Amino acid sequence: MSQLKITKFSHLSVRYQFVIMMMVLASALISFYSAVTYYNEKIIYAEESTDELKRISQVLESEYSALIKSSLPSAGMELIRKWKLFPVLEHAELKDIAGKSILNYSKSGAPYHNTQVLEPNTLKIVDDLFFYEGIVKSQGQKVGTVSYAISSKNYEELLANLTQLIIISIPIALTFAIFLSFWLQSIFVFPLQRLITTIKDIAQAEDYSIKVAIESSDKSEFAVLGQHFNSLLQRISKTLKEIEKSNANAQELAYYDELTGLANRRLLIEHIEYILDIAKREKRHGALLFIDLDNFKTLNDSRGHAAGDDLLKQVAESLKRVFRSADTIARLGGDEFVILSGHLEDSEEDVINQVHSFMLRLKHVLGEKFVVQGESYHLTASVGITTFPGMADIPEVLMKQADTAMYRAKEAGRDGYRFYQPEMQAVADARLKMETDLRLSLNSDELDLFYQPQVDEFGRILGAEALLRWFKKDGTVISPGDFIPVAEMTGLILPIGEWVMKKAFEQLSKWEKEGVAADFRLSINISPYQFHQETFVELTKKMLNESGVSAHNVTLEVTEGITIRDISATISKMEILTRLGFKISMDDFGTGYSSLAYLKKLPLSELKVDQSFVRDLHIDKSDAEIAATIIAMAKNLNLDVVAEGVEEESQLTFLSRHGCLVFQGYYFYKPMPAKDFDKLLFGNVVVL
Ligand code: C2E
Ligand code: MG
Ligand code: MG
Repeated sequence: MSQLKITKFSHLSVRYQFVIMMMVLASALISFYSAVTYYNEKIIYAEESTDELKRISQVLESEYSALIKSSLPSAGMELIRKWKLFPVLEHAELKDIAGKSILNYSKSGAPYHNTQVLEPNTLKIVDDLFFYEGIVKSQGQKVGTVSYAISSKNYEELLANLTQLIIISIPIALTFAIFLSFWLQSIFVFPLQRLITTIKDIAQAEDYSIKVAIESSDKSEFAVLGQHFNSLLQRISKTLKEIEKSNANAQELAYYDELTGLANRRLLIEHIEYILDIAKREKRHGALLFIDLDNFKTLNDSRGHAAGDDLLKQVAESLKRVFRSADTIARLGGDEFVILSGHLEDSEEDVINQVHSFMLRLKHVLGEKFVVQGESYHLTASVGITTFPGMADIPEVLMKQADTAMYRAKEAGRDGYRFYQPEMQAVADARLKMETDLRLSLNSDELDLFYQPQVDEFGRILGAEALLRWFKKDGTVISPGDFIPVAEMTGLILPIGEWVMKKAFEQLSKWEKEGVAADFRLSINISPYQFHQETFVELTKKMLNESGVSAHNVTLEVTEGITIRDISATISKMEILTRLGFKISMDDFGTGYSSLAYLKKLPLSELKVDQSFVRDLHIDKSDAEIAATIIAMAKNLNLDVVAEGVEEESQLTFLSRHGCLVFQGYYFYKPMPAKDFDKLLFGNVVVL
């Protein structure tokens, strides 16, 4: 930045600098004028005097030359008489060519001898006398010289008059200078002062909306400066407003959830700290609730994020109706909400009662209709609760406890709530460890597919079901029943499901090349999360093409969970897959909650009777009836039936008597590695 630096007189205001400048200027002008005038007057006087003396010389030249020649005293007397006629003449002296004095005159009568060395025809000023020397000629020949001295009295009088005039004019000039400086001030200093006062006001009031007043007729540089200054102020004020706004936004973002406007994790933690302090000090009790919506993921995946966001906003509004203004309602992300009760109770029992009534209200509010993109939903939630300071007095620990309790509520069948109990932590920790291990398993070859044959009543192989196995490095084998739910909760089911499909297609392609029967079927289990993934159909198609297998040899096993949300999208996906040649089988049929009406709408090819009905059918009459009914119903709907979990001959007999044609179970085969199944398919093993 450049800075204009004025050091001289910088301790004085511009006003005073102006006055001083004007006075100095006026004095300098007067001095200069006086000097010039004095000098001029002197030259004029000298010229006039020279002219006068030249004239005397001319008039008397013949008498001078005559006197030099004759040296007659009478002629000398006559000349002196004539010199006397010139009152300015103080002295005069006539000399012959040899420099000898011929005649000498002095006005005062005192003898006079010119001692000055003079240049002919030029005036010389010495003290108060002016000297002049003229040449005396006769018939063109120099015969002598005449020198004069005249008094400077007249000249001094003239100078005295001039000095008087200058002395009188000095105060007049100074007064004029002061007036001039005032006038200049009104032009330069006052607008500058107005600008300074405005800047001062702005700085003091910090009000950048103040403007410098400019008259519209004013076209001076100061008006231009003022205009620029005003537009600068305008920009400053605009920038300040923007900064204020973005500060407010940053504040908002720092403490509030952008989507719902509820508190975010940071604000929640601060509030927990604050309430915990009070609770400890006053020996009172409060609760922390962790709410997770059931099946929100399915809606979000199938309907898209905009629909999900819309629903979350509506839920946020509903939560505000359930809880009081003293409570903190926070959203941690996704469909996770946390409530901190801000109203402390005297005992833990009171807190528990308070929570029970909250839960009733919550269930009621979530059960109301939520309309998203024209479709209505009724929600349920799983809630985990912990109390403080009894259970913990550190915010993060309380959050973890409530989260753990929420998982318990989910595992217990959702749509419910659980209070945290210390034993839960061990289970939660184990689950967390499993999640971490499972994540690693994908890249470390720990997963494998086993194949369980599906056979006819004579044990002839018709197909197989691919079943996932997790062989951990430490030698333990984890059942899919244990890790698939964890994979589904954490989203790991998507990469795992993709891996399964790829591996199963590769295996099938091998078997096809090795000459497996043309109607051989390989069943692959598909999780609802996987199925509802937007790209599921595309991905399946891509893998089918890459592996080169025939879709007619593949059955996709889905569970009833698939029908919970968005039935029309489910149907259209299934239709595409069916058109591609895949068969779709409803696994574990009878254990879920899909209605028959829905079942009729789905383009299914097969029902699998769940093993729970098969297991006890020879001892439990109702199980036997259910199994028989499912088979009959499948026949009516023109669907194939597979009975799973067939372990005994009696089960096989019962099922086949009721019309079931395909069986899967330990009675025939257990799930086995691919190489064992290879032998079974292509080896010379005869099974009866
Ligand atoms: P599921 O699809 O109903 O598979 C049948 C389960 O019954 C398998 O358990 C199988 O080993 C077991 N089983 C078959 N015959 C008998 C029998 O005679 N007696 C008894 N007690 N059990 C029998 P597994 O392999 O432990 O799988 C459990 C569940 O895990 C499967 O049930 C399926 O829902 C799921 N699963 C397995 N592999 C995958 C997979 O690749 N993807 C997905 N999404 N889920 C899978
Ligand atoms: Mg299955
Ligand atoms: Mg099953």
